[in-house]
Amino acid sequence: VLRVRNLVKTYGATPVLRGIDLDVDEHQVVTLIGASGSGKSTLLRCVDLLEQVDDGQVWLDGQDVTDPRVDADAVRRRIGVVFQAYNLFPHLSVLDNVTLAPRRVHGVPREQAEATAMELLERIGLAARARAYPDQLSGGQAQRTAIVRALAVQPRLLLLDEVTSALDPELVGEVLALVREVAAGGMTILMATHEMGFAKSAADVVCFLEGGVLLEQGPPEQVLVDPQHERTRTFLRRVV
Ligand code: ATP
Ligand code: MG
Repeated sequence: VLRVRNLVKTYGATPVLRGIDLDVDEHQVVTLIGASGSGKSTLLRCVDLLEQVDDGQVWLDGQDVTDPRVDADAVRRRIGVVFQAYNLFPHLSVLDNVTLAPRRVHGVPREQAEATAMELLERIGLAARARAYPDQLSGGQAQRTAIVRALAVQPRLLLLDEVTSALDPELVGEVLALVREVAAGGMTILMATHEMGFAKSAADVVCFLEGGVLLEQGPPEQVLVDPQHERTRTFLRRVV
């Protein structure tokens, strides 16, 4: 689904991504781990074409989306994104948040968009809160709504950037459970996370980033349990 080759991104003179090679295959869950500032969010933003890349390519379903002639909005419509916080529009109800993109961007009629949205909200136990506003939800409910909102347009790829890091610890589990369920449903996911337990149990591939370099990638039982790089070991000692 996603292929990243030699991706380079610099801010001014500061290199933030130094030649990233990464594949995410259909139905895979790939997690990005690494210290703060290692480039995880920048990588996700480059994939979503929110940043101009300096070198290298990103392919989505075989299309080089870094080609300047590509319509970035059309590419972004095929990608669902959820950030750490503030994903929902505060002035729109839960239902309107979920139906906004299907209706406005994909031209789905209101009744159909709302029926689909209600099914999604039902799945996360929030159908009764469809008319509520985001500030009336718990952080966990808001993030679960943000995830089903991203899914409402049936994206090819779901990008998740530290979706649990702004949550109180007791709310983390319900959001990770939803991500796990979405993954089990076959969604292709690339996610930055510092939840090592989740990465270990739910990821197909774990990628360790340091200083904009993808130092090590492989199955979780290798990267998280028996890492090849001393730097990966140092990082894991610090976080677990
Ligand atoms: P965290 O775990 O804290 O979210 P991260 O791995 O997501 O960190 P990034 O946000 O990708 O890291 O940042 C990588 C580097 O790029 C950091 O050194 C950061 O200061 C720098 N950076 C990010 N965005 C910008 C920007 N808009 N302008 C300049 N530098 C930036
Ligand atoms: Mg980040």
